[in-house]
Amino acid sequence: MKVLVINAGSSSLKYQLIDMEDESVKAKGLCERIGIEGSKLTHQVPDKDKYVVEAPMPTHNEAIELVLKALVDPEHGVVASVDEIDAIGHRVLHGGMDYTESVKVDADVKRVIRECFDLGPLHNPANLMGIEACEAAMPGKSNVAVFDTAFGMSLKPYAYRYAIPTEYYDKYKIRRYGFHGTSHMFVSAETIKFAELPEGKQRVIVCHLGNGSSISASIAGKAVDTSMGLTPLEGLVMGTRSGDVDPAVVQFIADHEKISVDEVLNILNKKSGVFALSEGMSDFRDLSAASEAGNEKATLALDVFRHKVVKTIGGYMGVLNGVDAIAFTGGIGENDADMRASIMKQFEFAGIKIDAEKNKVRGKRQEISTADSSVRVFVLPTNEELAIARETERLA
Ligand code: AMP
Repeated sequence: MKVLVINAGSSSLKYQLIDMEDESVKAKGLCERIGIEGSKLTHQVPDKDKYVVEAPMPTHNEAIELVLKALVDPEHGVVASVDEIDAIGHRVLHGGMDYTESVKVDADVKRVIRECFDLGPLHNPANLMGIEACEAAMPGKSNVAVFDTAFGMSLKPYAYRYAIPTEYYDKYKIRRYGFHGTSHMFVSAETIKFAELPEGKQRVIVCHLGNGSSISASIAGKAVDTSMGLTPLEGLVMGTRSGDVDPAVVQFIADHEKISVDEVLNILNKKSGVFALSEGMSDFRDLSAASEAGNEKATLALDVFRHKVVKTIGGYMGVLNGVDAIAFTGGIGENDADMRASIMKQFEFAGIKIDAEKNKVRGKRQEISTADSSVRVFVLPTNEELAIARETERLA
């Protein structure tokens, strides 16, 4: 079976064609500047030069048409005809409380995606456009929606409810949803497989540390807690997102700076995090280099980031009443050995030991704890596209 995986943003569309026979990527690419002048498609087939098409894409429909054209192109394509694509898997940000797992798209699924526009204003409208463009271009083929919020749907009320008046939960579905769900689902399941964790010993903490960061606690692949909330702003300190702050900070800044709540939230989303603390750096490679060169602001940013990660892991150990494996993933989790080592150092008291040699690994699955560590620790690269393709194959 060949699955086309689509991740549609408001002005972009990423795709991968995956052959489920061996889970290999046949082609992948990106449409940029959809609806804006100067749109282009960059198509990449493994071991071949990039193929770039500059053509107008007023809507996602034209973008999908161009993607399909590239996939069947005699020179740059990888299939003889669109008929070889068996199903399409879509990354969808928000499924609200209606969808607790991936689902084949029908009218009701589209209604729910639409109803969640205000919960995911940047993503859900684009995700729906991606689905409708595929329906128009490939009538009759199965489209599957894989929700980023689905993993968090197994949380118990004590983990997902905010302690605010119930009417806001009843009227507006204000609760913790959690995001990066596709990644947490994939990495927790793969950690159980890779570590061969036996039944009853499958308590896993996944640290997805990247430009956006979140941590989940799960048992046998089912989420028990996760650090993001109603929106992806809650939880850890991120590249440009503040993570948790006292909510009173919002009013305080708004009053003193004479700006609106919208403007404050924009600051908390786009101008905060390690970027704000370091005064200009959000990439951890830059932060580490600056910190080593003596830049105190960069050091503070890294320290604040680490402190919050440690508090969250420690909290989740309590939530799970112990832990069998900890996995690091995401750009930072997969590549930043110093950050991994310094986070885990705080758990030496509990008998967790990292093997410095094994911890040098980058972007590849590997156990990084010592043989006598009380908890096994892993680097396990995430692969959200493959997770979406597997869900699509299962349902289509
Ligand atoms: P992601 O959002 O998962 O793609 O992660 C992107 C982030 O990973 C970048 O902003 C960097 O901060 C971080 N990153 C990527 N490569 C490295 C590396 N070699 N060392 C440290 N951080 C890295």
